[in-house]
Amino acid sequence: IGKAKELAAKINHPVYAVFIGSDIKDRVDELRHYGVDKVFFCDDPELKYFKIETYTSAFEAFINKVKPTAILVGATSVGRQLAPRIAARFKTGLTADCTILDMQENTDLVQIRPAFGGNIMAEIHTPNHRPQMCTVRYKIMNAPERSDSLSGDVEEFTVAKDKLKNRVEVHGTTRKPKEQSIENAEVLVVAGRGVKKKEDLDMIMELAEHLGAQVACTRPMMESGWFDAKHQIGLSGRTVRPKLIITCGVSGAIQFVAGMNNSENIIAINSDPKATIFDVANYAIVGDIYEIVPQLIEKIKKGEAVVA
Ligand SMILES: Cc1cc2nc3c(=O)[nH]c(=O)nc-3n(C[C@H](O)[C@H](O)[C@H](O)COP(=O)(O)OP(=O)(O)OC[C@H]3O[C@@H](n4cnc5c(N)ncnc54)[C@H](O)[C@@H]3O)c2cc1C
Repeated sequence: IGKAKELAAKINHPVYAVFIGSDIKDRVDELRHYGVDKVFFCDDPELKYFKIETYTSAFEAFINKVKPTAILVGATSVGRQLAPRIAARFKTGLTADCTILDMQENTDLVQIRPAFGGNIMAEIHTPNHRPQMCTVRYKIMNAPERSDSLSGDVEEFTVAKDKLKNRVEVHGTTRKPKEQSIENAEVLVVAGRGVKKKEDLDMIMELAEHLGAQVACTRPMMESGWFDAKHQIGLSGRTVRPKLIITCGVSGAIQFVAGMNNSENIIAINSDPKATIFDVANYAIVGDIYEIVPQLIEKIKKGEAVVA
């Protein structure tokens, strides 16, 4: 919604939110706290569970009704399934995982994302088809502030019953226990290949523990089997935006930096003064992690470092 408002202001278009589900009427207003011009919602018992066929039909009904210029979809597990189906149905373009979006006066959406392993930033346009579609990963754009007051209107739309027929039958659901995820962490300590042995990760874990931080890693550390893929930051991993990130023995490859350069405070520890991680770091510590990290831990233990 935040990005959509910025883009729409450039061409003087309204911003709409589309909300699909079952028994959702009393939750529609929540979306009106974020400054949209209208919330379109489709409420049907057939939409109780996310099923690709029914949700695509509902989304399609919305597009046929409203004919939007551009659609931004969250790159969640639901959004990543829904957006390509919709794009194919309308024979239009879709750019996945955009990191920068802009709007031209002629209503062409400028979709920018890393390509070729992050070595170039590709600028993609969809000049001949509408709606223009893109997905954006979690935490890439700024969320709008929630206002106490409500704004905009609400409009219900429906889908023909025959379009809600589908071949998937849900027999039951089980809620997955909530896991800690590096994407939501406020403080992260990152282990890179400067950590030589698996047992040396203990000092990284200890530092994280003292800071109330979660531990994350670079791709080689995940590939070596020392970490689960969920802990990898970067282009082929997760995008993070913590208040503080401390990288330990991380070179700062473009594919890693793409996943963390929006962090509020970046402290990098690397023995190579020319390491590219220092280009994005707010604080650069040139030195050996095997000396620096234990010293940091000692200082925190002695109360010489204040953890705010
Ligand atoms: C398509 C593609 C996608 C990719 N996606 C990702 C991704 O999502 N995430 C990711 O991380 N990588 C990704 N990569 C890999 C990326 O290019 C780098 O290879 C990787 O990020 C390097 O990890 P690193 O910094 O841990 O290791 P290295 O590049 O080997 O760097 C280790 C650093 O540690 C320093 N060092 C060594 N010893 C010490 C010490 N004792 N004290 C202090 N510093 C020390 C060195 O100076 C060096 O700078 C991708 C690559 C490709 C081609």
